[in-house]
Amino acid sequence: MRISAGAFSDVGRVREGNEDAHLVDDRLALFAIADGMGGHRGGEVASWTAIEALRAAVASGQPINDAVKQANTAVLERAAGHPELEGMGTTMTAVVVAGGRRLLIGHVGDSRAYLLRGGELSRLTEDHSLVEELVREGRLTPEQAETHPQKAIVTRALGVEPGVDVDVYAVDVAEGDRLLLCSDGLTDMVRERDIERVLRGEGDPQRAAERLVDEANEAGGVDNITAVVLDVVEVDDDGAPDPIVLAAEPAPRVARGEPAPDVGASGVEVPRPPMLRRIRSVTLLVVPLVLILAIAVAAVGWYARRSYYVGLDGEQVVLFRGVPGGVLGWDPTIEERTDLVADDLGPVARKAVADGAARGSRETAERYVERLTEQVAATSTTTTTRRTTTTTAGPTTVAPAPAPTTTPPR
Ligand code: MG
Repeated sequence: MRISAGAFSDVGRVREGNEDAHLVDDRLALFAIADGMGGHRGGEVASWTAIEALRAAVASGQPINDAVKQANTAVLERAAGHPELEGMGTTMTAVVVAGGRRLLIGHVGDSRAYLLRGGELSRLTEDHSLVEELVREGRLTPEQAETHPQKAIVTRALGVEPGVDVDVYAVDVAEGDRLLLCSDGLTDMVRERDIERVLRGEGDPQRAAERLVDEANEAGGVDNITAVVLDVVEVDDDGAPDPIVLAAEPAPRVARGEPAPDVGASGVEVPRPPMLRRIRSVTLLVVPLVLILAIAVAAVGWYARRSYYVGLDGEQVVLFRGVPGGVLGWDPTIEERTDLVADDLGPVARKAVADGAARGSRETAERYVERLTEQVAATSTTTTTRRTTTTTAGPTTVAPAPAPTTTPPR
Protein backbone atom coordinates (compact mmCIF):
# COMPACT_ATOMS: atom_id res chain seq x y z
CA MET A 1 0.00 0.00 0.00
CA ARG A 2 1.18 3.49 -0.69
CA ILE A 3 0.03 6.39 1.41
CA SER A 4 0.64 10.07 0.87
CA ALA A 5 0.44 12.05 4.10
CA GLY A 6 0.07 15.67 5.05
CA ALA A 7 0.03 17.04 8.58
CA PHE A 8 -0.30 20.35 10.34
CA SER A 9 -0.53 21.40 13.95
CA ASP A 10 -1.15 24.78 15.52
CA VAL A 11 -1.34 26.12 19.06
CA GLY A 12 -4.62 27.87 18.25
CA ARG A 13 -5.60 31.36 19.34
CA VAL A 14 -6.04 30.92 23.07
CA ARG A 15 -3.60 28.41 24.46
CA GLU A 16 -0.04 29.32 25.29
CA GLY A 17 1.53 26.01 24.35
CA ASN A 18 0.76 23.21 21.94
CA GLU A 19 0.09 19.97 23.79
CA ASP A 20 -0.88 18.12 20.62
CA ALA A 21 1.71 15.85 19.03
CA HIS A 22 1.61 13.87 15.83
CA LEU A 23 3.65 11.39 13.85
CA VAL A 24 4.02 10.73 10.16
CA ASP A 25 6.43 7.82 9.74
CA ASP A 26 6.33 6.60 6.15
CA ARG A 27 9.01 3.98 6.74
CA LEU A 28 6.93 2.24 9.41
CA ALA A 29 3.70 3.21 7.63
CA LEU A 30 2.62 4.58 11.00
CA PHE A 31 0.62 7.76 11.53
CA ALA A 32 -0.60 9.05 14.85
CA ILE A 33 -2.01 11.90 16.80
CA ALA A 34 -1.90 12.56 20.55
CA ASP A 35 -3.61 15.33 22.51
CA GLY A 36 -1.89 15.82 25.84
CA MET A 37 -3.30 17.19 29.05
CA GLY A 38 -1.88 18.24 32.37
CA GLY A 39 -0.41 21.40 33.83
CA HIS A 40 3.23 22.56 33.89
CA ARG A 41 3.95 21.39 30.34
CA GLY A 42 2.76 17.94 31.41
CA GLY A 43 0.40 17.71 28.44
CA GLU A 44 3.19 18.34 25.99
CA VAL A 45 5.47 15.83 27.70
CA ALA A 46 2.67 13.24 27.78
CA SER A 47 1.75 13.49 24.10
CA TRP A 48 5.33 13.38 22.86
CA THR A 49 6.32 10.60 25.24
CA ALA A 50 3.38 8.55 23.99
CA ILE A 51 4.22 9.21 20.32
CA GLU A 52 7.88 8.25 20.74
CA ALA A 53 6.99 5.09 22.67
CA LEU A 54 4.42 4.14 20.05
CA ARG A 55 6.94 4.49 17.29
CA ALA A 56 9.57 2.47 19.17
CA ALA A 57 7.05 -0.29 19.88
CA VAL A 58 5.84 -0.52 16.28
CA ALA A 59 9.44 -0.43 15.05
CA SER A 60 10.20 -3.42 17.28
CA GLY A 61 7.36 -5.34 15.66
CA GLN A 62 4.61 -4.99 18.23
CA PRO A 63 0.99 -4.99 17.09
CA ILE A 64 -0.86 -1.70 17.32
CA ASN A 65 -2.83 -2.39 20.51
CA ASP A 66 0.33 -3.48 22.34
CA ALA A 67 2.15 -0.47 20.98
CA VAL A 68 -0.52 1.88 22.36
CA LYS A 69 -0.33 0.07 25.71
CA GLN A 70 3.43 0.54 25.57
CA ALA A 71 2.81 4.26 25.08
CA ASN A 72 0.56 4.22 28.15
CA THR A 73 3.31 2.63 30.25
CA ALA A 74 5.84 5.13 28.93
CA VAL A 75 3.69 8.11 29.99
CA LEU A 76 3.16 6.61 33.45
CA GLU A 77 6.87 5.91 33.86
CA ARG A 78 7.77 9.38 32.68
CA ALA A 79 5.48 10.94 35.29
CA ALA A 80 6.74 8.74 38.13
CA GLY A 81 8.99 10.70 40.45
CA HIS A 82 8.17 14.01 38.80
CA PRO A 83 5.50 15.71 40.90
CA GLU A 84 5.18 18.50 38.32
CA LEU A 85 4.16 15.91 35.71
CA GLU A 86 1.76 14.05 37.97
CA GLY A 87 -1.68 13.68 36.47
CA MET A 88 -0.55 14.21 32.90
CA GLY A 89 -2.14 12.11 30.21
CA THR A 90 -2.84 11.99 26.53
CA THR A 91 -5.22 10.71 23.93
CA MET A 92 -3.87 8.62 21.09
CA THR A 93 -5.24 7.66 17.71
CA ALA A 94 -2.74 5.72 15.60
CA VAL A 95 -3.03 4.22 12.14
CA VAL A 96 -0.73 1.51 10.86
CA VAL A 97 -0.75 -0.29 7.52
CA ALA A 98 -1.39 -3.95 8.24
CA GLY A 99 -1.92 -5.51 4.84
CA GLY A 100 -2.25 -4.87 1.16
CA ARG A 101 -5.43 -2.92 1.72
CA ARG A 102 -5.94 -3.04 5.44
CA LEU A 103 -5.34 -0.35 8.01
CA LEU A 104 -5.51 -0.86 11.75
CA ILE A 105 -6.42 1.98 14.07
CA GLY A 106 -5.53 1.93 17.77
CA HIS A 107 -7.56 4.46 19.69
CA VAL A 108 -7.87 5.87 23.21
CA GLY A 109 -9.50 9.19 24.09
CA ASP A 110 -11.39 11.82 22.13
CA SER A 111 -9.15 12.52 19.19
CA ARG A 112 -10.77 11.11 16.06
CA ALA A 113 -10.24 9.20 12.84
CA TYR A 114 -12.49 9.90 9.83
CA LEU A 115 -12.77 8.29 6.44
CA LEU A 116 -13.65 10.23 3.31
CA ARG A 117 -14.85 7.82 0.66
CA GLY A 118 -16.77 8.80 -2.46
CA GLY A 119 -16.92 12.36 -1.18
CA GLU A 120 -18.66 11.35 2.04
CA LEU A 121 -17.19 11.70 5.47
CA SER A 122 -17.77 9.07 8.15
CA ARG A 123 -16.34 8.86 11.58
CA LEU A 124 -14.36 5.71 12.35
CA THR A 125 -13.69 6.10 16.07
CA GLU A 126 -15.85 6.54 19.13
CA ASP A 127 -14.89 9.28 21.58
CA HIS A 128 -14.02 8.15 25.08
CA SER A 129 -15.63 11.21 26.55
CA LEU A 130 -18.29 11.74 29.17
CA VAL A 131 -20.76 13.50 26.87
CA GLU A 132 -20.41 11.02 24.06
CA GLU A 133 -21.08 8.18 26.50
CA LEU A 134 -24.21 10.03 27.59
CA VAL A 135 -25.23 10.39 23.95
CA ARG A 136 -24.65 6.67 23.36
CA GLU A 137 -26.82 5.92 26.40
CA GLY A 138 -29.52 8.21 24.99
CA ARG A 139 -29.27 10.61 27.91
CA LEU A 140 -28.10 13.54 25.77
CA THR A 141 -28.91 14.48 22.22
CA PRO A 142 -25.96 15.13 19.90
CA GLU A 143 -27.08 18.79 19.87
CA GLN A 144 -26.96 18.99 23.67
CA ALA A 145 -23.55 17.34 23.60
CA GLU A 146 -22.24 20.08 21.28
CA THR A 147 -22.55 22.73 23.95
CA HIS A 148 -22.27 20.60 27.06
CA PRO A 149 -20.01 22.21 29.70
CA GLN A 150 -18.34 18.87 30.40
CA LYS A 151 -17.60 18.21 26.78
CA ALA A 152 -13.88 18.17 27.47
CA ILE A 153 -13.90 15.39 30.06
CA VAL A 154 -12.32 12.24 28.69
CA THR A 155 -13.18 8.89 30.21
CA ARG A 156 -10.16 7.06 28.85
CA ALA A 157 -6.63 8.32 28.30
CA LEU A 158 -3.03 7.16 28.34
CA GLY A 159 -0.99 7.83 31.47
CA VAL A 160 -3.82 7.44 33.94
CA GLU A 161 -3.72 3.79 34.94
CA PRO A 162 -1.27 0.91 34.39
CA GLY A 163 -3.84 -0.91 32.26
CA VAL A 164 -5.71 0.69 29.40
CA ASP A 165 -8.33 -0.64 27.00
CA VAL A 166 -7.36 0.14 23.44
CA ASP A 167 -10.08 0.22 20.79
CA VAL A 168 -8.75 -1.36 17.61
CA TYR A 169 -10.52 -0.82 14.30
CA ALA A 170 -9.68 -2.61 11.06
CA VAL A 171 -10.42 -0.57 7.96
CA ASP A 172 -10.13 -2.02 4.47
CA VAL A 173 -9.35 0.80 2.10
CA ALA A 174 -9.44 1.44 -1.61
CA GLU A 175 -7.46 3.78 -3.81
CA GLY A 176 -8.78 7.30 -3.47
CA ASP A 177 -9.82 6.89 0.16
CA ARG A 178 -8.72 9.67 2.45
CA LEU A 179 -8.30 9.38 6.20
CA LEU A 180 -8.19 12.20 8.69
CA LEU A 181 -6.73 12.01 12.18
CA CYS A 182 -7.46 15.08 14.25
CA SER A 183 -7.53 16.44 17.77
CA ASP A 184 -10.69 17.84 19.36
CA GLY A 185 -9.34 21.32 18.70
CA LEU A 186 -10.54 20.77 15.13
CA THR A 187 -13.82 18.94 15.75
CA ASP A 188 -14.91 21.33 18.52
CA MET A 189 -14.47 24.28 16.17
CA VAL A 190 -15.41 23.02 12.71
CA ARG A 191 -18.61 21.15 11.88
CA GLU A 192 -18.26 17.77 10.24
CA ARG A 193 -19.90 18.97 7.05
CA ASP A 194 -17.28 21.72 6.80
CA ILE A 195 -14.50 19.22 7.45
CA GLU A 196 -16.00 17.13 4.65
CA ARG A 197 -16.12 20.17 2.35
CA VAL A 198 -12.41 20.92 2.90
CA LEU A 199 -11.33 17.29 2.53
CA ARG A 200 -13.35 16.96 -0.65
CA GLY A 201 -12.22 20.23 -2.17
CA GLU A 202 -8.48 20.25 -1.44
CA GLY A 203 -6.55 17.64 -3.40
CA ASP A 204 -3.17 17.94 -1.72
CA PRO A 205 -3.12 16.25 1.71
CA GLN A 206 -0.70 18.77 3.21
CA ARG A 207 -2.75 21.74 2.05
CA ALA A 208 -5.92 20.02 3.24
CA ALA A 209 -4.45 19.63 6.74
CA GLU A 210 -3.42 23.28 6.77
CA ARG A 211 -6.82 24.47 5.59
CA LEU A 212 -8.61 22.48 8.29
CA VAL A 213 -6.39 24.06 10.93
CA ASP A 214 -7.04 27.51 9.41
CA GLU A 215 -10.80 26.98 9.62
CA ALA A 216 -10.56 25.97 13.28
CA ASN A 217 -8.55 29.10 14.00
CA GLU A 218 -11.03 31.26 12.13
CA ALA A 219 -13.78 29.76 14.29
CA GLY A 220 -11.95 30.82 17.45
CA GLY A 221 -9.12 28.33 17.85
CA VAL A 222 -9.79 27.80 21.55
CA ASP A 223 -7.68 24.65 21.69
CA ASN A 224 -4.59 23.25 20.01
CA ILE A 225 -5.48 22.00 16.53
CA THR A 226 -3.87 19.11 14.69
CA ALA A 227 -4.86 17.39 11.45
CA VAL A 228 -3.14 14.46 9.74
CA VAL A 229 -4.50 13.69 6.26
CA LEU A 230 -3.69 10.30 4.71
CA ASP A 231 -4.40 9.62 1.07
CA VAL A 232 -4.51 5.99 -0.04
CA VAL A 233 -2.64 6.25 -3.32
CA GLU A 234 -2.21 2.59 -4.11
CA VAL A 235 -3.36 -0.72 -2.66
CA ASP A 236 -2.04 -4.23 -3.20
CA ASP A 237 -4.44 -6.93 -4.19
CA ASP A 238 -2.39 -9.95 -3.19
CA GLY A 239 -3.55 -9.62 0.38
CA ALA A 240 -0.20 -10.72 1.76
CA PRO A 241 0.41 -9.60 5.32
CA ASP A 242 2.37 -6.40 5.89
CA PRO A 243 3.52 -5.67 2.34
CA ILE A 244 4.34 -2.12 3.24
CA VAL A 245 5.31 -0.12 0.22
CA LEU A 246 7.00 3.05 1.17
CA ALA A 247 5.73 6.46 0.33
CA ALA A 248 7.96 9.16 -1.07
CA GLU A 249 9.66 10.24 2.14
CA PRO A 250 11.93 7.65 3.74
CA ALA A 251 12.71 9.42 7.00
CA PRO A 252 10.05 9.79 9.67
CA ARG A 253 8.61 13.24 10.03
CA VAL A 254 7.84 14.14 13.57
CA ALA A 255 6.61 17.66 13.68
CA ARG A 256 6.03 19.90 16.59
CA GLY A 257 3.31 22.53 16.45
CA GLU A 258 3.96 25.98 15.17
CA PRO A 259 5.02 28.64 17.66
CA ALA A 260 2.22 30.49 19.36
CA PRO A 261 0.84 33.31 17.27
CA ASP A 262 0.83 36.78 18.76
CA VAL A 263 -2.73 37.00 19.95
CA GLY A 264 -2.31 40.55 21.18
CA ALA A 265 -1.23 41.78 17.76
CA SER A 266 -4.64 41.17 16.28
CA GLY A 267 -6.09 43.51 18.87
CA VAL A 268 -8.80 40.99 19.62
CA GLU A 269 -9.06 39.58 23.09
CA VAL A 270 -10.06 35.97 22.71
CA PRO A 271 -11.77 34.80 25.88
CA ARG A 272 -10.37 31.74 27.58
CA PRO A 273 -12.63 28.71 27.52
CA PRO A 274 -14.95 28.64 30.51
CA MET A 275 -13.51 25.42 31.80
CA LEU A 276 -9.93 24.23 31.91
CA ARG A 277 -9.79 20.99 30.14
CA ARG A 278 -9.84 17.36 31.07
CA ILE A 279 -7.39 16.24 33.71
CA ARG A 280 -7.31 19.90 34.58
CA SER A 281 -10.95 19.42 35.46
CA VAL A 282 -9.68 17.01 38.09
CA THR A 283 -7.59 19.90 39.36
CA LEU A 284 -10.79 21.92 39.47
CA LEU A 285 -12.14 19.31 41.86
CA VAL A 286 -8.98 18.97 43.91
CA VAL A 287 -8.38 22.68 44.46
CA PRO A 288 -11.74 23.35 46.17
CA LEU A 289 -11.24 20.20 48.26
CA VAL A 290 -7.85 21.44 49.43
CA LEU A 291 -9.37 24.85 50.16
CA ILE A 292 -12.21 23.30 52.15
CA LEU A 293 -9.68 21.26 54.10
CA ALA A 294 -7.54 24.33 54.80
CA ILE A 295 -10.61 26.24 55.97
CA ALA A 296 -11.60 23.30 58.19
CA VAL A 297 -8.13 23.15 59.74
CA ALA A 298 -8.17 26.91 60.29
CA ALA A 299 -11.65 26.69 61.83
CA VAL A 300 -10.59 23.91 64.17
CA GLY A 301 -7.50 25.93 65.10
CA TRP A 302 -9.61 29.02 65.68
CA TYR A 303 -12.02 27.02 67.83
CA ALA A 304 -9.11 25.45 69.71
CA ARG A 305 -7.44 28.81 70.38
CA ARG A 306 -10.58 30.47 71.68
CA SER A 307 -11.49 27.55 73.95
CA TYR A 308 -10.46 27.31 77.58
CA TYR A 309 -10.61 24.64 80.21
CA VAL A 310 -9.43 23.85 83.72
CA GLY A 311 -6.82 21.15 84.02
CA LEU A 312 -3.73 20.05 85.87
CA ASP A 313 -0.16 21.07 85.24
CA GLY A 314 1.60 18.48 87.37
CA GLU A 315 -0.27 18.88 90.65
CA GLN A 316 -1.29 22.47 90.12
CA VAL A 317 -4.77 23.41 88.91
CA VAL A 318 -4.39 25.75 85.95
CA LEU A 319 -6.55 27.46 83.36
CA PHE A 320 -5.60 26.24 79.90
CA ARG A 321 -6.22 27.84 76.56
CA GLY A 322 -7.01 25.25 73.91
CA VAL A 323 -8.53 21.79 73.89
CA PRO A 324 -7.45 18.96 76.22
CA GLY A 325 -4.88 16.82 74.42
CA GLY A 326 -4.63 19.38 71.62
CA VAL A 327 -6.17 19.11 68.17
CA LEU A 328 -4.55 19.14 64.71
CA GLY A 329 -1.28 20.40 66.11
CA TRP A 330 -2.86 23.06 68.30
CA ASP A 331 -1.53 22.20 71.77
CA PRO A 332 -3.12 23.79 74.83
CA THR A 333 -1.13 26.52 76.59
CA ILE A 334 -1.25 27.61 80.25
CA GLU A 335 -3.22 30.83 80.50
CA GLU A 336 -3.39 31.28 84.27
CA ARG A 337 -2.21 29.38 87.34
CA THR A 338 -4.40 29.02 90.44
CA ASP A 339 -3.50 28.54 94.10
CA LEU A 340 -5.21 25.15 94.08
CA VAL A 341 -3.48 21.77 93.88
CA ALA A 342 -5.02 18.41 93.05
CA ASP A 343 -4.92 17.27 96.68
CA ASP A 344 -7.22 20.15 97.67
CA LEU A 345 -9.98 18.72 95.50
CA GLY A 346 -12.46 16.00 96.27
CA PRO A 347 -12.16 12.79 94.23
CA VAL A 348 -14.90 13.79 91.78
CA ALA A 349 -13.55 17.27 91.11
CA ARG A 350 -10.00 15.93 90.92
CA LYS A 351 -11.02 13.46 88.22
CA ALA A 352 -12.96 16.14 86.33
CA VAL A 353 -10.03 18.54 86.40
CA ALA A 354 -7.56 15.83 85.41
CA ASP A 355 -9.74 15.17 82.34
CA GLY A 356 -10.08 18.86 81.54
CA ALA A 357 -13.13 20.47 83.11
CA ALA A 358 -15.34 23.44 82.21
CA ARG A 359 -14.49 23.45 78.54
CA GLY A 360 -15.75 26.51 76.75
CA SER A 361 -15.28 30.23 77.16
CA ARG A 362 -12.76 31.81 79.44
CA GLU A 363 -15.62 32.96 81.74
CA THR A 364 -16.88 29.38 82.08
CA ALA A 365 -13.42 28.20 83.07
CA GLU A 366 -12.88 31.12 85.46
CA ARG A 367 -16.26 30.59 87.17
CA TYR A 368 -15.37 26.91 87.57
CA VAL A 369 -12.09 27.84 89.26
CA GLU A 370 -14.02 30.23 91.56
CA ARG A 371 -16.45 27.48 92.51
CA LEU A 372 -13.57 25.06 93.10
CA THR A 373 -11.91 27.66 95.34
CA GLU A 374 -15.17 28.19 97.26
CA GLN A 375 -15.70 24.43 97.63
CA VAL A 376 -12.17 23.94 98.88
CA ALA A 377 -12.65 26.82 101.35
CA ALA A 378 -16.01 25.42 102.47
CA THR A 379 -14.60 21.91 102.84
CA SER A 380 -11.77 23.13 105.02
CA THR A 381 -14.27 25.19 107.14
CA THR A 382 -16.50 22.14 107.55
CA THR A 383 -13.50 20.06 108.55
CA THR A 384 -12.45 22.64 111.09
CA THR A 385 -15.99 22.94 112.41
CA ARG A 386 -16.31 19.18 112.67
CA ARG A 387 -13.07 19.04 114.58
CA THR A 388 -14.37 21.74 116.85
CA THR A 389 -17.73 20.10 117.26
CA THR A 390 -16.30 16.71 118.25
CA THR A 391 -15.38 18.18 121.58
CA THR A 392 -18.80 19.66 122.20
CA ALA A 393 -20.61 16.59 120.79
CA GLY A 394 -23.32 18.87 119.48
CA PRO A 395 -24.58 18.75 115.91
CA THR A 396 -23.49 21.65 113.84
CA THR A 397 -24.75 22.57 110.45
CA VAL A 398 -23.23 25.01 108.10
CA ALA A 399 -26.60 26.32 107.05
CA PRO A 400 -29.02 26.91 109.88
CA ALA A 401 -32.14 24.78 109.78
CA PRO A 402 -35.34 26.68 109.14
CA ALA A 403 -37.30 27.60 112.23
CA PRO A 404 -40.29 25.32 112.95
CA THR A 405 -43.49 26.75 111.71
CA THR A 406 -46.38 27.31 114.00
CA THR A 407 -48.92 28.39 111.45
CA PRO A 408 -51.97 26.16 111.84
CA PRO A 409 -53.34 24.47 108.79
CA ARG A 410 -56.11 26.36 107.10
MG1 MG B 1 -7.44 19.14 22.55
